[in-house]
Amino acid sequence: MTEKLALVGIGKIARDQHIPAISANPDWSLEATVSRHASVDGIASYAELQSLLDARPDISTISLAIPPQPRFAYAEAALRAGRHVMLEKPPGQSLAECFALETLAREMGVTIFATWHSRFADCVPDLKSWLAARELKRLRIVWKEDVRHWHPGQEWIWEPGGMGVFDPGINALSIMTEILPHAVHVREATLEYPENRATPIAAGLRFTDPGGADVSAVFDWRQEGPQTWDIEVETEDGNARLSLGGSKLEINGQLIREGSENEYPNLYERMSDLVRTGSSDMDLSPFIHVCDACSLGRRVVTAPFHY
Ligand code: NAP
Repeated sequence: MTEKLALVGIGKIARDQHIPAISANPDWSLEATVSRHASVDGIASYAELQSLLDARPDISTISLAIPPQPRFAYAEAALRAGRHVMLEKPPGQSLAECFALETLAREMGVTIFATWHSRFADCVPDLKSWLAARELKRLRIVWKEDVRHWHPGQEWIWEPGGMGVFDPGINALSIMTEILPHAVHVREATLEYPENRATPIAAGLRFTDPGGADVSAVFDWRQEGPQTWDIEVETEDGNARLSLGGSKLEINGQLIREGSENEYPNLYERMSDLVRTGSSDMDLSPFIHVCDACSLGRRVVTAPFHY
């Protein structure tokens, strides 16, 4: 059955990924958008979510592609109106907000899905099953990109709740928490804050692994030229390298697979399954690592950042 859906926040990720993924999936029908300044040709447009919820009881699902800071109020209103809710990553600006939404969804008997698009990259399941049969010695995340390219002019990302470089870094953490067979926790972190900004531009994290493996992450938003979204894994029995954000996998230097861009189509398929089976998926483990890094992190002030 086709579910009717409204997309909230017609910005970069809505246009780049959500609209094409929804349009290509027969399980979903994009019935309306909510955006204060933008609309999509041929689709009913609302400036406020409450107007849409009042006018369109037939729309079962609200997908939120707005920044994390306003996300809670939108999600709460949609859940209280009995709609299923799909949250862009990160699922909120604080953990307590996410716990509250999870509880509310359960009380209302609707689905909530905290999406982690990078987990749905093609090669992530391959690396997960390869790693499941091996003993980890070392895992190193190197996630370096150009903020001016990926977040042009976005001021929210530098404001409290915007998470700075953890906005992309949490994607790497969502893969790490998916592929590791056991939980790790942040032991120490260094966070570099531009002197004129409230969120970090770079971060280094070290984790404690119960098996004694060396687990670390480096995030940096100042990378120009080729971008780096790599996870290198060493085990007693071979090495693996996941690159291009999860779409390319090499094992012991041999190319195993180079996939295509299926993350958002896979997310909407997963949401469809959750709605159909009356279940929810609210894994907050990547967000916990970010909160712990901010709690434990040593702050270093660095050069001002301007677009
Ligand atoms: P964006 O383009 O800056 O924002 C999306 C839209 O949200 C805006 O066009 C704006 O529409 C609305 N919005 C902004 N601030 C708002 C506020 N305070 N209250 C209500 N609506 C507001 O951001 P984005 O890059 O699409 O990112 C949105 C989310 O997607 C973030 O959580 C981000 O982490 C995630 N994401 C982004 C990317 C990427 O490559 N950029 C990739 C994956 C995931 P109106 O002003 O018209 O209401």
